[in-house]
Amino acid sequence: MSNPSLLILAGDGIGPEVMDQVKRIITWYGDKRDIKFDVSEDLVGGAAYDKHGVPLTDETMAKAQEVDAVLLGAVGGPAYDNLDFSVKPERGLLRLRKEMDLFANLRPAQCFDALADFSSLKKDIVAGLDIMIVRELTSGVYFGEPRGIHIEDNMRVGINTQRYTEAEIERGARAAFDMAMKRNKKLCSMEKANVMESGILWRDVVTEVHADYPEVALTHMYADNGAMQLVRAPKQFDVIYTDNLFGDILSDCAAMLTGSLGMLPSASLGSPMANGRPKAMYEPVHGSAPDITGQSKANPIACILSFAMALRYSFDQGEEATRLENAIEKVLADGARTGDLMGPEGGKPLSTTEMGDVILAALDASL
Ligand code: NAD
Repeated sequence: MSNPSLLILAGDGIGPEVMDQVKRIITWYGDKRDIKFDVSEDLVGGAAYDKHGVPLTDETMAKAQEVDAVLLGAVGGPAYDNLDFSVKPERGLLRLRKEMDLFANLRPAQCFDALADFSSLKKDIVAGLDIMIVRELTSGVYFGEPRGIHIEDNMRVGINTQRYTEAEIERGARAAFDMAMKRNKKLCSMEKANVMESGILWRDVVTEVHADYPEVALTHMYADNGAMQLVRAPKQFDVIYTDNLFGDILSDCAAMLTGSLGMLPSASLGSPMANGRPKAMYEPVHGSAPDITGQSKANPIACILSFAMALRYSFDQGEEATRLENAIEKVLADGARTGDLMGPEGGKPLSTTEMGDVILAALDASL
């Protein structure tokens, strides 16, 4: 049987720098755990624009559709800020998400004990935090029609439409319930059923899907209360399922519970392919960080944790994903820090490569 395939799209700015460390981890798994991947690489974002005049070529798009998972670094940068909207680096990313139909965006918010002081919340509220937000990514108010800015009675009117079909709600709900089954079997669905019809439908459909997942404890919460609860007592949650707009806001809110952008992975999943694996793209939440590009200051952990998510959600290697997460937890507990994780106590930050070195050493020590 051939190895599972990975397409690496490192992108722009610090994307290639953090992805270099992921490549070392992939090699480690091949050498030390006999978990091998067929890895190919291509261009996305500004890097693709520089070579091809577009942020994603049709050939690269076709490759992304064929592989078992895509690993993406980051796109964008000041050199591309004034390009026409249609060829901006972000269009490459959006095209991947759209054409692969990646409807479930998974954003874990996990607080490593060693970094609990970094959160803007009190340490005891966030220490040990481990929640997962599943955000519907391909529908809702960002896509609904009608939309636009019109003139009515000599006045400009801005219009966006929240629209969800039951099929859209259902497939995301199944992804969220599946996720809860792999975790602590608790799911909280968030909407505004008190004031929005789409929220009423959302609540109904999630409740119907629950019948197929009797082991999962399902609760419902209005999204505004959800925002409050996320900062009041975030550890009450395991998996949260919510729509595109609320998910955008709630996942950023949850992200900040954990401190640094350099620590946050994400996954975007679509429907199962013929081999049963979901269409999938894994990427750090952060951008291309032009302010630190080329200085070996970037924290590679978000990108490495994204690969851990790939091990767990695309390749059924949950134990190996945990091994990698534990290695990261260990090096942080031992005091390893890139610049973004330096506290007031100071010290010498590790370079991007040095952080890769200590994580690989911790992986070796785990054998
Ligand atoms: P950013 O995430 O690139 O950076 C925000 C701040 O966080 C910067 O100070 C940066 O140095 C720091 N930072 C981010 N990642 C880090 C890491 N791994 N290690 C250490 N520090 C890190 O956001 P921005 O500055 O708003 O955007 C820069 C560019 O990235 C823009 O062109 C934007 O459009 C693009 N962007 C891309 C994505 C993506 O590819 N998914 C996401 C957000 C922004």
